Amino acid sequence: MRQITQLTEMTDYYRSIDRLREKIALVPTMGALHRGHLSLVEEAARLAQRVVVSIFINPTQFAPHEDFNAYPRTLDEDLAKLADYPVDAVFTPTASQLYPHGYQTYVSNEGLGLGFCGIKRPTFFKGVCTVVLKLTNIVRPDFLIFGRKDFQQFKVVEQMIADLHVPTQVIGSPLVRDTDGLALSSRNVYLSSEQRRQALGISQGLFAAASLYQAGERRTQALLAAVKARIEQSPSPVIEYLAICQRDNLQEYSELVNSPAIILCAVQVGQVRLIDNIELG
Ligand code: AMP
Repeated sequence: MRQITQLTEMTDYYRSIDRLREKIALVPTMGALHRGHLSLVEEAARLAQRVVVSIFINPTQFAPHEDFNAYPRTLDEDLAKLADYPVDAVFTPTASQLYPHGYQTYVSNEGLGLGFCGIKRPTFFKGVCTVVLKLTNIVRPDFLIFGRKDFQQFKVVEQMIADLHVPTQVIGSPLVRDTDGLALSSRNVYLSSEQRRQALGISQGLFAAASLYQAGERRTQALLAAVKARIEQSPSPVIEYLAICQRDNLQEYSELVNSPAIILCAVQVGQVRLIDNIELG
């Protein structure tokens, strides 16, 4: 496994590969790696002979009041974890390489990214789309692997890649949970043990709704009420959004759920904002 820090070195890397015989899969991350990220690496290795993991905490997807400075930075541990996986290269560019002085071009999504996370974080998807397109242009992967944990992000990236005719295939890899049900996230380290206990209401609520759905419940209000009741069992979690949408276009269902659906939610537990989802059907 090699670590590549320079953009030119990354270009030399993909040029050195016989693209007819070997495919490249890119797993973009912000580091602080956990089993969720590592499952994306495994998915990448199933699809391609060469797996590249990028670790870059992208400043343009954080608003000024957000946790860019506090975001966990654990590069040595991340490299040690990746060394146990079939990773060919870890790409760790610096912010000044990706956004040099005088930088001025951004990509913004005008549809799927406007709702849900885009309401509270209006510049988030612009930062994500911009950095993903840049990383894709630098690494030239055949496959781009994203987690369905951040389902809206996965859909926004998929749309951006299609809209801009970028020659790569976006893959959505399953959400990975901790043994207690909490969706794995680099931000979980911010939770105190009491907050973590309270946060379990999120996954428990989503599981409750999925059971109701399996038992035949299709009324959106009943499904959402089951999630809400579990989350609000504890006093402190505050629901930012909770909705049932069509999985392909993120259109909200207001009445009966009758095609592949997903429940999306964002919940604030103390200072920590957690997002989670469950796919129905
Ligand atoms: P991040 O480092 O948080 O920007 O995440 C990098 C990638 O890992 C994104 O595609 C995320 O959707 C994915 N990811 C993060 N947490 C999980 C998880 N619990 N299960 C699956 N994928 C995840």
